Order: sequence, then structure tokens, then C-alpha cells
Amino acid sequence: MSWETEIRYAAFRYLADYERFNELIPGRILAEGFEWKGQRITLKGQTGIWTPRGFDCPISITSRTEGPYNLDGISKDGTIIYAYRGMDANHWDNKKLRKAYETRTPLIFFKEVRNHLYQAIWPVLIIEDHPEQLYVLATIDPAFRTVEPHVPWASIELSPVEVRRYAMVETRHRLHQSAFREIVIHAYDERCAMCNLHHPQLLDAAHIIPDSDDEGIPVVNNGLSLCKIHHAAFDCNLLGVDSDYIVHVQQRLLQETDGPMLQHGLKDLHAKRIILPRRKNDWPNPESLERKFKDFPEY
Ligand SMILES: [Zn+2]
Repeated sequence: MSWETEIRYAAFRYLADYERFNELIPGRILAEGFEWKGQRITLKGQTGIWTPRGFDCPISITSRTEGPYNLDGISKDGTIIYAYRGMDANHWDNKKLRKAYETRTPLIFFKEVRNHLYQAIWPVLIIEDHPEQLYVLATIDPAFRTVEPHVPWASIELSPVEVRRYAMVETRHRLHQSAFREIVIHAYDERCAMCNLHHPQLLDAAHIIPDSDDEGIPVVNNGLSLCKIHHAAFDCNLLGVDSDYIVHVQQRLLQETDGPMLQHGLKDLHAKRIILPRRKNDWPNPESLERKFKDFPEY
């Protein structure tokens, strides 16, 4: 196995740790890269197509975002459209991209979700090259995750198109989820709207109208930043929030007596107003709250 392939594997392993916690990666971490046998390998450079020194093929391609939910280039049919650098098909960066296409070398696709925070999508393969139109088509192929290190990339068969399409649907979903999480938690200054807890690791972006519903769109006004316990309690209607932003605790719970978690964590919230985002534009939509509150038990 060539050292370039070895490093590519090491990069995938490095990113898998972030993936496990579904974390977005700050751009500076990617620019710093990781240590490999005493050598520093940067994962992302200043330009979109990034080829570390001495590499035959790029290690990553990056797409900056213009809006929070801009998933440009990521289509549902299992392909990524990625534009060349500039207008010259033979620019050094574009040639490297073509080389990755010819050798079927998997890359990492860094998709910016918000303000220099990236989701890593890999392994991505270039499946079509269009020099005259200055773009390539790429796909996510899970088959390239688990291959034996000594097998040359070119001898690995691409997964069937349905498998790749499914991987893409999952990726889009993950991107939407992480964008939603970032935007909602940020709007609430990284605090729980019910108890004010200020620990991002313990916070979720709760959907008011669930995302399984057609109206459950991932926008800030359909979200609440809630700690894990209040998220779960809100989802199962132990707690409700009416359209005036007042918290209701289920009667059954109010009558119970137990330890401090029940008392302070839940019962004490009754009839209090949630903590709203500073920007009024980010406040939850009262109609969505009302719709959700219809399921809140009366007794
Ligand atoms: Zn809370």
C-alpha cells in the first residue's frame, strides 16, 4: 500500500471519530489536520480542491454554504455536482481532480453547514468528469469504507446505484439535522429554553412539529433548544408549551411526590414562560406550538 493510501485511510479513521458523535468540525481543525508518523497532514486548504504536498490526488473537496439550508450540489438521486476551480479545465487543482476520477480514488467532501462548521462526507468518488462544462459528478459509496487496504481502488466495484442513492438520502438527512441543531441552539445562546442549562453537549434542537410530518421543516421557528430531559418530556407530552410560550406540566406529574429531579426539574416549571431567543425572528411559531399543544392531555 502506498503511503498516500495509508494516509487516506488514516484520514477516514480520524473523521470517523467526529462522525460517531455526529459533530460538525470547525474549519481550523481541518486546516490543522492530524499527525501521521510525525508528519502533519492538513485535510482542507484555502481552495476547494485540496491536495496535500506530495499527493497524486486531492484528499478533499470543500463546498462553502451561502445560506443555512443550502444543500446545493447534493441531489436526491445519489450524486454530488462539484464545480472545477476557475475556468481552466487544466488548472493544477482540476487536473488532480481528474486524476482521482481516473484512479477511482475516494475523497472527503466537506460541506459547510454554518459559519466555518463542516460536515465530513466520505468516501466520495468521482464518477463523471465534464471538462468542457467545468464540473465533475461524484457519489457517496459505502463500499469504499470497508475495503482491504492492499486492494487497489480501481479494482473495487462501485455499489449498485440504489445503495449509493440510499447513502445520499441519509447524508442529506444528517446535514439537515446538523444544520437545524446548529441554528436552533445558537438562537437560544446555547441554553435550554426551559431550565436555562448552558451545556451544549446536553442540548438538543427539539422539533415542535416532528420532522416526519410534512410541516415539520427544519427552520428555527419550528425548533426549541432543550436539554435532553426536557426534550424527552416535551416529545412525550409530560410537558407542553402553549402558544403564549407558557409551560404546562401534566396534572398526573404535578400530583406526584418524589425527589428533587421531579420537583425542581419538572414540577417547578409549571406556568412559567420559556426563555425565548433574543431575536424575535427566531421565536417559535405560535401556530406550531398550538398544533402540538392539542395533543397535551387535559387531565
Ligand atoms: Zn432543560
